[in-house]
Amino acid sequence: MARRVRAALAEIGATEFRVAEIRLRDPGPRDVVVELAASAFCISDWIALRGDMGLEENGTLPAVLGHSAVGTITEVGAESALLPGTRVVLTATPECGACFWCLAGRIDQCAGLFTGAPVLGTLADGREVFAPGATGAYAEATVIRDTQVWPVDDELPDAWLAMLGCGIVSGAGAVVNVAQVTPGSSVLVVGCGQIGLWMIQAARILGATTIIAAETSPARAALAARVGATRVVDPSTESLLDVVRAETGGRGADFGFDAGGTTDAVEQAFLGTRNGGVTTLTSYVARDTRVSLPLYDLALRGRDVRSSQSGRLDMRRDIARLLPWLADGSFDVRAMLGGIRPLDEIALTLAAARERREITPIISFSH
Ligand SMILES: [Zn+2]
Ligand SMILES: [Zn+2]
Repeated sequence: MARRVRAALAEIGATEFRVAEIRLRDPGPRDVVVELAASAFCISDWIALRGDMGLEENGTLPAVLGHSAVGTITEVGAESALLPGTRVVLTATPECGACFWCLAGRIDQCAGLFTGAPVLGTLADGREVFAPGATGAYAEATVIRDTQVWPVDDELPDAWLAMLGCGIVSGAGAVVNVAQVTPGSSVLVVGCGQIGLWMIQAARILGATTIIAAETSPARAALAARVGATRVVDPSTESLLDVVRAETGGRGADFGFDAGGTTDAVEQAFLGTRNGGVTTLTSYVARDTRVSLPLYDLALRGRDVRSSQSGRLDMRRDIARLLPWLADGSFDVRAMLGGIRPLDEIALTLAAARERREITPIISFSH
């Protein structure tokens, strides 16, 4: 296939994407070229575009963002065992299988993660274009490590599978892999965007019987109830901690989850978790952001805080676990889908995510 593809570019000083043609680099021995069918828009790419991921400081602009997608392999490097024609999902995390972290069972911290941004290709004027996260999924095609794509033998729609690589694995993975929510337990989810709503869904499926969701947007609060929350709180009008205590015998939730994208959400999730409970964090605000948590609870009251980079994914295992929930209707997928738009409408896609009007806007390349 032609390696001249159209892509949504993040550029220095711009807070909107610009669609431009790039020429993809040649695949290395362990790379594959993937023609994309659909990409899920992730709010973290808005954080990157507005300058809070340090892309400009790192010298990695212009860039193609996007890290959760589905497509078809069209070319393989000389040493890759993957085959052209294979339908694959793309993720943000490489799983090299050979570094210290992969061998230690902490694939989510693979040495290939956050190690800068490879060159994805060049613009017509010769400038290099980078792929922070090494995925480059807001493009008609991308060149990517073969350890960062996963074959999916399934007939599910592209828009559904596009959500696996970040939203589903990050949200449901936090519940299934990190916190390991148990049947009959109580769960608090602070923030009901993409990640929080997948968390609620997974907690429901795992049998949590009390699921408290904190959300200020009425539309998102309604979605939280639709996908499984048993009590939805607007923390701007009600005391979240009072509600949590009332719903959990005065103790706090067995499992607290932060999915609010703010330091407040982190603190609320922690304070709403009971002694001896587990709080799982997913928020990222900016590189130098700090949070303040009460040391007494951390040191003496048995409260574990867990980090959940992409839900501590292991895609082979997680596809086996989570894809059936997509296929059998356990996940309410339609509650999660935003508009499905072509690449040329990336401005509308970005606005829908930035203004919190849609949970998961999808970029479709089959238009
Ligand atoms: Zn993401
Ligand atoms: Zn690794």
